[in-house]
Amino acid sequence: MSDPRVDHLDALDLANVLVAMCDTMSGRTEELTHADQVIGDGDHGLAMERGFRAARETIAQEPAPDDVGLLLERFGTAMLTSMGGASGPVYGSLFRRGAQPLKGERAFDARSLAAFLEAGLIGVQERGGAKVGDKTLVDALAAAAEAARASCEESLGLSLAAAAAAANEGKERTRDMRATMGRARSLGDRSIGHIDPGALSFALMLEAWSAAVNRAAPAS
Ligand code: ADP
Ligand code: MG
Repeated sequence: MSDPRVDHLDALDLANVLVAMCDTMSGRTEELTHADQVIGDGDHGLAMERGFRAARETIAQEPAPDDVGLLLERFGTAMLTSMGGASGPVYGSLFRRGAQPLKGERAFDARSLAAFLEAGLIGVQERGGAKVGDKTLVDALAAAAEAARASCEESLGLSLAAAAAAANEGKERTRDMRATMGRARSLGDRSIGHIDPGALSFALMLEAWSAAVNRAAPAS
């Protein structure tokens, strides 16, 4: 659970939270590899590991900009250029397009989260054409964007927790879907019964993001 006391983050705090999120995700490689072995070609764990390592290095090495949009755009560019496969352009689009409505903003709050996820969703869909129900990351992302919008009057901590829970539910729904996009498409009905790896990585990422914000809460 995120800490409801965290109302917003400035760009430097957001950079630290993103670094912590990347560190948590580096421990998820095996789980993502396994998910993609079952339904794809088994490279999703390594792709995500490469992406989060590159993004972490980019934001940890460069001084954080004041601008949260610029920070998230840099994060996305590092993912796009390091991951490859289908998920590189997907995560690249999510962060780079999600960053656009936040350009020039100095604080990241619950409204920013909703704007980021909504714009990111449009970017991912324009890039890859997946709709809700196609058994991709879009199923987890669309659920998260809706939950973030519904809770955008709350604190960032509460809104992130709601978005992470919704992403997890969206990820679970992919289990009963038949894949129509990406490599899993060739499995047809045999894709039913397995979680989509990209929906899993996205749900884990939001969970890690939410947990990192929780830890950034001021001591009471
Ligand atoms: P590859 O399919 O090239 O091996 P990865 O294994 O890294 O790439 O990523 C697979 C994940 O990418 C899928 O589980 C799915 O969630 C996501 N994905 C694939 N194609 C699309 C698409 N068109 N739109 C959104 N997400 C997609
Ligand atoms: Mg793969």
